[in-house]
Amino acid sequence: MSTNIVKVAGVDISTDHFIGGKRVASANRFADISPVDGSHLADVSAGGKVEANAAVEAARNAFPAWAALGPKGRLPILKKFAEGILARASELAAVETMDNGSLVAGNLHRVIPRAAHNIDFFAEWALTLEGHSIDSPEVVNHIKYDPSGVAVLITPWNAPFMLTTWKVGPALAAGNTVVIKPPEWAPLTCSLMADIAKAAGVPDGVLNVVQGIGEEAGDALVNHHDVDRISFTGSTDTAKIIGQAAARSITPMSAELGGKSPFIICADADLDAAAQTVAAQYMNAGQVCLAGTRIMVEKKIEEQFLEKVRDASAHMVVGDPREKDTRVGPLIHKDHFERVAGFVERAKADGAVPLWGGGRSNFGDLYFEPTLFADVNPSLEISQREVFGPVLTWQSFRNDDEVVSLANNTKYGLAGTLFSRSEKRAMDIASQVTAGTLWVNCFFVRDLAVPFGGAKDSGMGREGGSWSFDFYSDIKNISVRKGSFA
Ligand code: ADP
Repeated sequence: MSTNIVKVAGVDISTDHFIGGKRVASANRFADISPVDGSHLADVSAGGKVEANAAVEAARNAFPAWAALGPKGRLPILKKFAEGILARASELAAVETMDNGSLVAGNLHRVIPRAAHNIDFFAEWALTLEGHSIDSPEVVNHIKYDPSGVAVLITPWNAPFMLTTWKVGPALAAGNTVVIKPPEWAPLTCSLMADIAKAAGVPDGVLNVVQGIGEEAGDALVNHHDVDRISFTGSTDTAKIIGQAAARSITPMSAELGGKSPFIICADADLDAAAQTVAAQYMNAGQVCLAGTRIMVEKKIEEQFLEKVRDASAHMVVGDPREKDTRVGPLIHKDHFERVAGFVERAKADGAVPLWGGGRSNFGDLYFEPTLFADVNPSLEISQREVFGPVLTWQSFRNDDEVVSLANNTKYGLAGTLFSRSEKRAMDIASQVTAGTLWVNCFFVRDLAVPFGGAKDSGMGREGGSWSFDFYSDIKNISVRKGSFA
């Protein structure tokens, strides 16, 4: 057993891998720095091929017994796992904040409870998939959701705990065993997840965590010959690399990637609600793949609406994410800060005009001002590429054809938001925008029963409800001739 424990926000956290129910250390370590105050949080075990092999082997060995439990046998264990998450919600929220800079209040009240729900919900949903059959003239087709085996789950830093449970929930509920590769910029809550799973009675080897750098630990896992599923959330460029590994072994892969989502405000909308929701796109410092970053406003209300957004954005206080009044915390890492600042500088050079913001906040090194660019030509980089920071663009439109074509004018298709009081108009526009999710007069509502995923470069596959089990199962049809049994 390793003794590599750090204390972050008063919580003891192992910095080592979790393989076959045991902590395993690596000689190589990587530094984990807090974006909140630049403090050095931990030196974390950096895995590679050796650790990936050990974890996949542990997961493979644990698979038959976990699969054999069936959904009913797994349910009480997974419910305890969810309860364990809730019981440690305040610790998880505080650690996540120190590790990735997200707002502690949001973590405590929304993100961590949601993570527990991810485990609970899919454990229950798995029960609904049993006993499904389709009657044909000559045969009865019994549809079985067989567990697929070992699933590798690779997650990003913007909501590591929550996004990992979004994969762990359905993967385990479907009877798979998993190897998690947490993000190297914010690995700590996934280490706590392993402790919580163990305490809940998740058998050794069913949930493994291999820490490390993407190009090393992640690469070793996705190239492992004995992996049955790869589920990835992160950037489109990394997905293309992982996709090549998956293709070599024909391993099914799901990918939830970036976005550059449109946010459309029609003249007949509830402008106050719409303005509040536009300002909310700055939350988490814009490090949200679903954020509606391209604001598109109907010309006749443009000036009036801009003033409302200006007022609402003034409440987006930049500051320490542990403080209750803060709405915009830091960017995760200095490399990411430079990336965001680079987009902003190039946008200015391209002739886009920052109506507010446009640079580093006085609050601290990694803190960026909420920024709005006007006069953006739709072909500019700032209109086309995902910034993943508190940076919005502003365009106006005169009619619905124009806004549909503006909305669809990127390579992404993750989500979109639209405000209008006209049902016909809203549904007409919404049905023409290419995206996995369109929110009308709301934002960020995500029932776990509904399909979720991205079109075009925003991903492949859908998760949620039975769609998750379509991915994490080997679906089998046992086709039995009627009247053929003695
Ligand atoms: P982001 O831009 O959000 O940091 P990345 O796509 O770089 O997104 O990273 C998301 C996750 O993918 C992280 O856990 C990272 O370690 C992992 N990762 C990065 N490169 C690879 C790779 N070549 N193979 C497997 N995983 C990778």
